[in-house]
Amino acid sequence: MELVNNRYTIGGVDALSLVEEFGAPIYVYDTAIIRRQYEMLDTAFSGVRHKIKYACKALNNISILKFIRSLGAGLDAVSLNEIHLAMQAGFTSQEIMYTPNCVSFEELKQAVALGVAMNIDNLPLLEQFGKEYGGSIPLCIRINPHIMAGGNLKISTGHVDSKFGVSVHQLEELLAVVEAHSINVVAVHMHTGSEIADAEIILKGAEILIEMARNFPNLQYLDFGGGMKVAYKPGDKAVPTLDIGAKLAERVNEFSKERGREIEVWLEPGKFLVSEAGTFLVRTNVVKRTPARTFAGVDSGLNHLIRPMFYDAYHHIANISNLTGTQQQYTVCGYICETDNFAWDRDLAEVREGDVLAFHNAGAYGFTMSSQYNARPRPAEVLVHNGKAHLIRTRETLEDILRNQIVVEL
Ligand SMILES: *Cc1c(COP(=O)(O)O)cnc(C)c1O
Repeated sequence: MELVNNRYTIGGVDALSLVEEFGAPIYVYDTAIIRRQYEMLDTAFSGVRHKIKYACKALNNISILKFIRSLGAGLDAVSLNEIHLAMQAGFTSQEIMYTPNCVSFEELKQAVALGVAMNIDNLPLLEQFGKEYGGSIPLCIRINPHIMAGGNLKISTGHVDSKFGVSVHQLEELLAVVEAHSINVVAVHMHTGSEIADAEIILKGAEILIEMARNFPNLQYLDFGGGMKVAYKPGDKAVPTLDIGAKLAERVNEFSKERGREIEVWLEPGKFLVSEAGTFLVRTNVVKRTPARTFAGVDSGLNHLIRPMFYDAYHHIANISNLTGTQQQYTVCGYICETDNFAWDRDLAEVREGDVLAFHNAGAYGFTMSSQYNARPRPAEVLVHNGKAHLIRTRETLEDILRNQIVVEL
């Protein structure tokens, strides 16, 4: 979102006019920002052969997937349905990586049948996989390097207590299973958390992954996962992409020399590509003063954007209806019958009933984590591309809430 001539715009389109046209609450995405982020990452890793697999759990609207594919990206899926969404968007099975955890062997077999690249994150499943397929399906193994990475514990996935990956300390067991079934390991993978801002931690993880990779003679690529941080708060530092790209490229090229074959780098950014491209626009229902604070109650809640309540995540908020209003402190809350505060103490230009508030960084883990809690429909989604706004998902209605319910006579 940009301030142009005292109006907030998204991809060149006036944000308030989008609310007039499509209603509130509404998610709006800007393809120009997704492109900017993609190109930034692609450039940062230009020193090494690499593939960018968009982690679509961040935002999986098919129109967005189609756009990201047009940029040249592949896709990272964590469920069978994400694979199907990707295929509907035009991704071929070769372009899709399947990175599930704790799924049934049944689900794994279905993914194999779809022909996607497979990533396995635990030994019991690897054992079953080996028994069924031997070395006939190339496989990536997810390693847990036991490093503390990511913005906070809830979004850290590579530490010793995390459910993800095969522990680095289980190398011997891993190799025994691989050998017993002649499993064809072509890659090792790590994804150690979200909102990683520190180049050192990524490089430390990479060193551990390379150490693991030495055990697999058929190795073709190293998958460093996602988790690159973007700025959420004003003044926040994003991940130093260029620095990390250059250092990882150098390190992997060195490893390629050691192996005598070109080892590729795979990356799985989610948030990095789409977080800043999304804005969530809501309308203020009520401004309520209590002895303790002033609440700005909006027509949304944890049903639409759960990150502030689930992760204590900071989302920058702007009152885009009253740019010149005097700054006052508000507790911005939702309409759900829970304590669904988006922000406890936030300075905003004076908020009046009816004002539209804009949540920044709403592209990643916004709509995809939404629910129908309190029997409230999910919002609509709009995509702005080349100065034009397209509705890419209609607002849900009561019918969507009633769908699948079976009324029995008791
Ligand atoms: C969620 C996820 C990602 C993306 O994480 P971001 O923090 O959004 O970049 C990448 N890889 C895997 C395996 C994931 O589960």
